[in-house]
Amino acid sequence: MQIKNLSKHFQLGGGEILTAVDEVSLDIAENAIVGLVGESGSGKSTLGKTLVGLHEKSGGQVLYRGQPLPQRYSTADYRRMSKDIQMIFQDPYASLNPRMTIEEILTEPLRLQQRKLSSEKRRQLAASWLERVSLNASYLGRYPHEFSGGQRQRIGIARALITEPTFVVCDEPISALDVSVQAQVVNLLGDLQQSLGLTLLFIAHDLSMVRYISDTMVVMYLGSVVEQGPSDEVFFSPKHPYTQALTKSNPLADPQQEKARAHDLIVGEMPSPVNLPAGCRFAGRCDRVMDRCHRERPPLQLIATDRWVACHLY
Ligand code: SF4
Ligand code: MG
Repeated sequence: MQIKNLSKHFQLGGGEILTAVDEVSLDIAENAIVGLVGESGSGKSTLGKTLVGLHEKSGGQVLYRGQPLPQRYSTADYRRMSKDIQMIFQDPYASLNPRMTIEEILTEPLRLQQRKLSSEKRRQLAASWLERVSLNASYLGRYPHEFSGGQRQRIGIARALITEPTFVVCDEPISALDVSVQAQVVNLLGDLQQSLGLTLLFIAHDLSMVRYISDTMVVMYLGSVVEQGPSDEVFFSPKHPYTQALTKSNPLADPQQEKARAHDLIVGEMPSPVNLPAGCRFAGRCDRVMDRCHRERPPLQLIATDRWVACHLY
């Protein structure tokens, strides 16, 4: 997937504009796992949702296998694109309709795509997908409330994959889960990625988990990419002062706790995405800030093989 200068703005009351994603460019290779990290409010989820068509793009272009994704999705567009691109959501409690059985939940994407399958064939597919995510095929008649968070997320994964997409946005798929089941769900995603040859955009707070699962790590701050490179290099040898602070504040299971801890280590608050500061957007919190940082916005630049950093220090 090629993402070129993708932007997403939200119009607020009083004519103000919130810039959630600001001209992000990113190449995601086929069969790769790209990890996207950053604090809450950095624009990660908005970027992911824009890629699957849940938000309309405000600017830029996205090409998937050479085909441009539409600006605004019609139902037909949505049906066509959802064959290739799917999303796994953060909250396995909110993302499964409590009034639907597991069979209805799993077969809904097949119906939406108007696949010509008998109901018996759909049921068989749903049963085989339950088994592929290590759940029992006999669960088809049950309801979401009968399952734990980890089991629900497995059902969410089966629902996303039943139509055999090739690209999957995983929006913080483990942040709402108990620490004890997080690794299992990540390993399941890794196994499915390998066996199905999927391309994954894996959005998360937890840098060590992202390092573990992904080939490439992309760090976002206030709607922009500030650092990108091979995951091990970014994790063990971060270049951008923001990434350096994030790797020090590292993994706590609870996003709220993590946010509090990140705030301890990274002085100050993230500026409002409504009134974006001129110059480097990290300047107000950076311990290496220079005069120039307040005036000139650092572009994302190649500083070594595969290493991209947006900072005047390089
Ligand atoms: Fe810090 Fe300046 Fe680099 Fe921004 S450009 S991260 S303020 S040193
Ligand atoms: Mg989010």
